Amino acid sequence: MADSATNVPPPPHTIFDTILVLDFGSQYTHLITRRLRELNIYSEMLPCTQKISELSFKPKGIILSGGPYSVYWDDAPHVDPAVFEMGVPILGICYGLQEIAWHSDQKNVVAGEKREYGHAILNVHKHSGKTAHVDALFAGLEDDMDVWMSHGDKLSQRPAGFVTVAASENAPFAGIAHEEKEWFGIQFHPEVTHTKKGTPLIKNFAANICGAKQDWTMDAFVGKEIERIRALVGPKGQVIGAVSGGVDSTVAAKLMHEAIGDRFHAIMVDNGVLRLNEAKQVKETLTAGLGINLTVIDASDRFLDLLAGVKDDPEKKRKIIGNTFIEIFQEKAKEIAAAAKGSANEGEIEWLLQGTLYPDVIESISFKGPSATIKTHHNVGGLLEGMHLKLIEPLRELFKDEVRALGTQLGIPEDLVWRHPFPGPGLAIRIIGEVTRDQVRIAQQADHIFIEEIKKAGYYKQISQAYAALLPVKAVGVMGDKRVHAQVIALRAVETTDFMTADVFDFPTKFLSKVSTRIVNEVDGVCRVLYEGKSSQQPTTSELSGHEFANGQIVTSKPPGTIEME
Ligand code: GLN
Repeated sequence: MADSATNVPPPPHTIFDTILVLDFGSQYTHLITRRLRELNIYSEMLPCTQKISELSFKPKGIILSGGPYSVYWDDAPHVDPAVFEMGVPILGICYGLQEIAWHSDQKNVVAGEKREYGHAILNVHKHSGKTAHVDALFAGLEDDMDVWMSHGDKLSQRPAGFVTVAASENAPFAGIAHEEKEWFGIQFHPEVTHTKKGTPLIKNFAANICGAKQDWTMDAFVGKEIERIRALVGPKGQVIGAVSGGVDSTVAAKLMHEAIGDRFHAIMVDNGVLRLNEAKQVKETLTAGLGINLTVIDASDRFLDLLAGVKDDPEKKRKIIGNTFIEIFQEKAKEIAAAAKGSANEGEIEWLLQGTLYPDVIESISFKGPSATIKTHHNVGGLLEGMHLKLIEPLRELFKDEVRALGTQLGIPEDLVWRHPFPGPGLAIRIIGEVTRDQVRIAQQADHIFIEEIKKAGYYKQISQAYAALLPVKAVGVMGDKRVHAQVIALRAVETTDFMTADVFDFPTKFLSKVSTRIVNEVDGVCRVLYEGKSSQQPTTSELSGHEFANGQIVTSKPPGTIEME
């Protein structure tokens, strides 16, 4: 289908007004893009080294992000000077502000006497009409704003041609605006939620100053994307892809189905370590519910036989599961491909569906430093040896919340759209120690009870991920006046927005007791339940008081538990 490339409808940045974010490696750069998308303004991020002559679209405006470097370092990254010749509005944030000032005169940026990290009060200066646009960035915002700063360098003087539009105690040039051109710089970070009116400021820049239309919605995206898939794949081409029952693969599969019907072949591999009844449920939802052409392969015995005897090395479990998955997927893909070849009006399978999301793309292109090479996204197309499949990635422009909105748009049931992530190696990594059929049964049943109760209590959407893990230790308990020696379940539930840091979910005691009672009563082989409250962001002592169950305190009553473990 090589020649179809020219007929393919253009990607979103040519259809929707786009704000280009140039990344200097700040840990918050992706948040700028997210805030814009939340305002229904399409935005993409590229490394700060992007050559403007190689840009395939004309952005409505450019935002220069923060970054960990100092602009005056010899090897500091700088934008292509052509950025300043494009005639579009520019907003520099922190390093971005310093870059604008440095571009005008290298003497403008120096190391500050002290670092400024955290909250600051910003005083907005109004110029009442001399050059109207200089006030546009802070239009409608209060004169005293609560902002968040994170910098060590500062502007030593105001760059020529600029006026000061905001100042803080430590940063006399915390906001500057060019008197003629629509160039702005701010020392604080409007993209983080600690800056109270950050989003309205970003809106002022993107919608009012740049004039970007707020028309980026999943409703507008879906039709265009279906058209794009059809053009890409052609009238006969076929696509194959793995589904897991998770939101990303389901949304991608449904989108493919809408675009090319049964020429999209979904494969689900039951690896024996899925959640209770999962393979059956996914099959029902995807085939009967969503009409997707799905083949489910029950390979549980093959996986569980390979996992037998693997005790202490979770990496080994992951490898076995990952490699076996690829083998099975490959076998099935070849079968489907052979069958498809013979059919009258269908072409060969040429494409592999990949559920890549925008954060994966960002991760692969984000600017890592003057000497770091920029990774290209790993091409899993090579994964299907000998089939030479091309990748099709219909979600690659979308953030997770957009994938969810798209799922709802496509009629995917709510509980699937809001489903917690589930790891590829499944319960195998929630069963500490050897994975046997009986351990899988215990883990499945305990997990099922925990999640069922979470849903009943209405916590499911608030929690980002919750599960029950099975520990390879036995505790003593008293059940029906008899001494029992059975295993321990550890519950875990976290809240997070980005899965990089997470906080323990604060369940009421009553809830945990109920789950504990049900698990001990209903799951044969368990006599004790813990709430595993250790979070990656360790709570401070003052926070701990709100987490009665933090750090593995026992929530199982006695009996059936005992006070000591053994
Ligand atoms: N490195 C620069 C400074 O310390 C920029 C910091 C930033 O962009 N957050 O001032």
